[in-house]
Amino acid sequence: CPWGAPSTTSISCSLADVMSEQLAKELQLEEENAAFPEVVAAAEGPFITGENIDTSSDLMLAQMLQMEFDREYDAQLRREEKKINGDSKVSISFENYRKVHPYDSDSSEDEVDWQDTRHDPYRADKPSTTPRRGFIGKGKDITTKHDEVVCGRKNTARMENFAPEFQVGDGIGMDLKLSNQVFNALKQHAYSEERRSARLHEKKEHSTAEKAVDPKTRLLLYKMVNSGMLETITGCISTGKESVVFHAYGGNSATEDKVIPPECAIKVFKTTLNEFKNRDKYIKDDYRFKDRFSKLNPRKIIRMWAEKEMHNLTRMQDAGIPCPQVVILKKHVLVMSFIGQDQVPAPKLKDVTLSSEDMKKAYYQILNMMQQLYRECNLVHADLSEYNMLWHDGKVWLIDVSQSVEPTHPHGLEFLFRDCRNVSQFFQKGGVAEALNERELFNAVSGLNITADNEVDFQAEIEALEKMNEDHVQNHGKKLSTFSSDGDPPIYDE
Ligand code: ADP
Ligand code: MN
Repeated sequence: CPWGAPSTTSISCSLADVMSEQLAKELQLEEENAAFPEVVAAAEGPFITGENIDTSSDLMLAQMLQMEFDREYDAQLRREEKKINGDSKVSISFENYRKVHPYDSDSSEDEVDWQDTRHDPYRADKPSTTPRRGFIGKGKDITTKHDEVVCGRKNTARMENFAPEFQVGDGIGMDLKLSNQVFNALKQHAYSEERRSARLHEKKEHSTAEKAVDPKTRLLLYKMVNSGMLETITGCISTGKESVVFHAYGGNSATEDKVIPPECAIKVFKTTLNEFKNRDKYIKDDYRFKDRFSKLNPRKIIRMWAEKEMHNLTRMQDAGIPCPQVVILKKHVLVMSFIGQDQVPAPKLKDVTLSSEDMKKAYYQILNMMQQLYRECNLVHADLSEYNMLWHDGKVWLIDVSQSVEPTHPHGLEFLFRDCRNVSQFFQKGGVAEALNERELFNAVSGLNITADNEVDFQAEIEALEKMNEDHVQNHGKKLSTFSSDGDPPIYDE
């Protein structure tokens, strides 16, 4: 060996040394435990305890560990912050060093209400202007914008333009003169903080807006796999405006007494608020949700959509209408049976070419289903079209019923009329000669007898009926159980 033989220095150390070192370690551990009992508690957090630890998903393990680590880190940070600040009136905040940024933290999110979420982090602050001409006053009393005192005061006042989250202390109220240098440094920092929070916000928005789901949803999905309820989540079937749908193979979870279908569809309702704003009218006026709606934050409203879809599917299932079967609802995630086979979802009616015989069969089936939906389930689909009907096993399956409402919903009949128009047009164009027109279909489904022979009058009558129902609710505090247009006394709910 050109480098010479390595001198083999054997570390000689007695058993007693090793023992004492170990003892020292043990003692230190004990001491630490006594000083920071929470650390131990945190390490046994909600995720990494118990036997339900399945190591099959490395990603999930990593994410859970990271989440735990971040929490521990923040807990430690809080302790240090407390230690440093003590009882002092002036305190130092370590918030910027936290791993779980306040914008990401769970609790703060669940507490936002409508008001809070309206804050727009992208809004540009109005720039405060110094007078163009650069001086104020006349003659001898002229002061230029470079005047130190004026400028200092102005700088202090301008701090108010920083983002509201940015802590500027109480200097604004005092006669504090900030030098340009200090002000500029502060401004720089304030802006980079603003950008940081905007970036975080954006990241969060996009993670749900795109096909991926946010970390919390992902964890929810992983937990379903972990618990054995699902075998694997194979991939995304659809990314819509309001939801993302995944395919999964059902597991054989022993704890659930329900049988999990071999293939499942997982509908994840998007937790971004924007798309849901324009759906307010469906849920806001639905008396079933009336009391709850006004008090809820957006996150809870989105859960309510999922809940609504679950209830509506259950009603349909009970009436024997072909539709997905509900497996489980967890927050904004609804698991149901998969319509299709071997990961291939059944085609939508709009995408499938049916023989004229099948087309006719499909039409009569839908007519029947619409009647059942109205009479037995007391529901109007409210988004019925060839996009939300699947062709599977030689028949039509109804899906996507989160927006479905009861017929006595203030706009229920209008929704029904729209559904009828979609169905009529689709089958008339598809060459089904027997297909009723939208007005005939509406009467056939609702059992009403609106005689107007043109769309405008027909719609006016529908709206008059809706109004009559609303007036009745106003006067009697309860709704009509059914509509009637032929002068019969309306039937009321008991
Ligand atoms: P969206 O509100 O996004 O339209 P949908 O419930 O219509 O939500 O689902 C979107 C798409 O996902 C459907 O058009 C259909 O192709 C597919 N899909 C939804 N649920 C199922 C299911 N249970 N089985 C098979 N495919 C489904
Ligand atoms: Mn749909």
